[in-house]
Amino acid sequence: MHVSYRIPAASATGFERCGPASPELSRRLPPVLVLAVIALLAANGLRPARALGAPAATVYVTETGRSYHRDGCPYLQRTRLPLPLPEAAALGYAPCAVCLPPLPPGDAPPGSRPPPAALFRVDLAGVTRCEPGELDRMPRALVVRCVDGDTIYVALPRPPEGLGTRERLRLIGVDSPEARQESPTVRQLALAASEFTRRRLEGRIVHLAGDWQRRDRYGRLLAYVYLPDGSCHNAELLREGFAHAYTRFPFQFLEEFRALEAAARRQGRGLWATDGPEKPYRAPVR
Ligand SMILES: [Zn+2]
Repeated sequence: MHVSYRIPAASATGFERCGPASPELSRRLPPVLVLAVIALLAANGLRPARALGAPAATVYVTETGRSYHRDGCPYLQRTRLPLPLPEAAALGYAPCAVCLPPLPPGDAPPGSRPPPAALFRVDLAGVTRCEPGELDRMPRALVVRCVDGDTIYVALPRPPEGLGTRERLRLIGVDSPEARQESPTVRQLALAASEFTRRRLEGRIVHLAGDWQRRDRYGRLLAYVYLPDGSCHNAELLREGFAHAYTRFPFQFLEEFRALEAAARRQGRGLWATDGPEKPYRAPVR
């Protein structure tokens, strides 16, 4: 809500960008031509060529699309997020029919993974660390943008029922300081929390789990976010002192999260450090 880490790329058409014409620009096609190419490819039944024995290529996805692309594809005008090809395929992105990117090695056709039936509800045992078996049962998502310490945007090319291909996601049970606060110290802490989340999550594939409530009153998806190593980012924010436990609404791990916050306070981490001019940080009263 306060820091934009990615400079928005031009407008919806992508033709207003300043500067000299680049090779990328000259490859862009008008929408009518793109549709014509799609129709032509569909009619001829062409399929992308399979790359054999090549190292994992980098492909590109957009914030909302369900396909992955080669660099320079006209569909990448607005957003362009790099991913290793196997990861794009594992997330459920299908190869673009216009730019014909390489197919991943292996037998499973890309995009063939069925979407999970519903958002997985994590068990009590797994709040701070999930086993690989449990991670496999959770929907995978690509973190396309971090808004602040506790809010991110994720892309789900094959979302479970009730979810969209792009979701604004609020981390369950944690609250990071607001950058809009007047105190410079709190603003600085908000930036530090944002940076922690950005560094750990942006551009990465995560696993999502839910709790009793699917969405908050702003329509944001409420979730626990797990990294491939099994760590829970919600819990890591508390452990490192970048958030306090948000206990206004009930959730399964309220007591565990309170304990994580208490430990960070005792250790004087992050928000709870005592060496600054206006510290310690006071969590807003709920
Ligand atoms: Zn493409």
